[in-house]
Amino acid sequence: MNMQTSLVTGGSGFLGSHLCQQLLAQEENVICLDNLSTGHLRNIEPLLAHKKFLFINHDVQSDMIDLFKLKKINKIYNLASPASPEQYQKQPITTTLTNVIGTARCLELAQFHGASFLQASTSEVYGEPLIHPQKENYFGNVSTIGPRACYDEGKRCAETITSDYHKKYGIPVKIIRIFNTYGPHMSCDDGRVVSNFVVQALQNKTLKIYGNGLQTRSFCFVDDLVSGLMQAMETKKDCWMPINIGNNNEISILELAQKIIKLTHSQSQIQFLPPLESDPRQRKPDLTRAKSILSWQPKVSLEKGLLKTIEYFRKFI
Ligand code: NAD
Ligand code: UDP
Repeated sequence: MNMQTSLVTGGSGFLGSHLCQQLLAQEENVICLDNLSTGHLRNIEPLLAHKKFLFINHDVQSDMIDLFKLKKINKIYNLASPASPEQYQKQPITTTLTNVIGTARCLELAQFHGASFLQASTSEVYGEPLIHPQKENYFGNVSTIGPRACYDEGKRCAETITSDYHKKYGIPVKIIRIFNTYGPHMSCDDGRVVSNFVVQALQNKTLKIYGNGLQTRSFCFVDDLVSGLMQAMETKKDCWMPINIGNNNEISILELAQKIIKLTHSQSQIQFLPPLESDPRQRKPDLTRAKSILSWQPKVSLEKGLLKTIEYFRKFI
């Protein structure tokens, strides 16, 4: 019997809820901690009755050691943080503090329990990248005061404190730089591009592109991403250095809009709006390190992943 206990912060959000589900499938005990700021109970509803699952409504910025004194934790996946630019820009100060103070709280807890720790970092640490595709040894091009700084700099500092806890206290840590991921359990009003376009296309409403649509992203389906997180946590290899996880199939936002209109058989039109300030022009992960250290690579094609995502959103339209 699997007696391991994993704590997933941000566990009722998009990625966290899939991770909780997969950990339960491995028969682990799972504690999902979330303040429901961008996450939803509906994402974890099927898990609430599971005897190995516990939901705690709590903010990662508050002390957690008292909360978990009596229950041994083996692994901490720290996912708590808004991820959509629209959401994190509504609460910029909370976003920075969630990533800096919240990560420090989770690391204190990992030290207290001797637990392994995985930090959900982001491709946003590369900012507006001057190197393409982005390798982990690229230091990035990030504004300290722009509209994305609360998130980008919060995540960069979270990487710093995570690596310093490893160097100072020997905690086994993993720093995973997640690239744009999509799939079921994103909120209809999340604000990120895939959910926006799918919801608009299903409603035959206009798809709104910021700028000329030639900016690129590389989209990873959630199942691939979650398997990457779990493989990273489980690897016995000494790898506290950051690892990119995502899909390296790069596509422009205009092509994405056209693909979603086609897959939904929608009557929607495309409208071009003024570009967003500090919107990165291109993004694509170099996955060499993930392949060599974790033997991981994405498997789900964009078309297959989008069809599963469209099927999910149909329930809400
Ligand atoms: P999400 O917004 O759906 O989930 C984030 C979860 O964290 C939500 O359930 C929210 O309620 C919770 N949360 C936020 N602040 C909290 C706090 N102070 N205390 C407790 N809980 C809090 O976003 P997601 O896409 O699932 O992202 C999960 C993690 O992965 C985030 O750390 C994000 O930065 C990272 N990430 C995601 C992507 C992506 O494409 N999905 C890309 C890069 C990084
Ligand atoms: N975008 C868009 N329309 C939308 C939402 C996003 O054109 O309704 C663009 C956005 O300007 C960016 C890209 O899609 O260039 C990805 O945006 P998202 O918010 O999903 O994530 P980001 O990678 O910017 O954090």
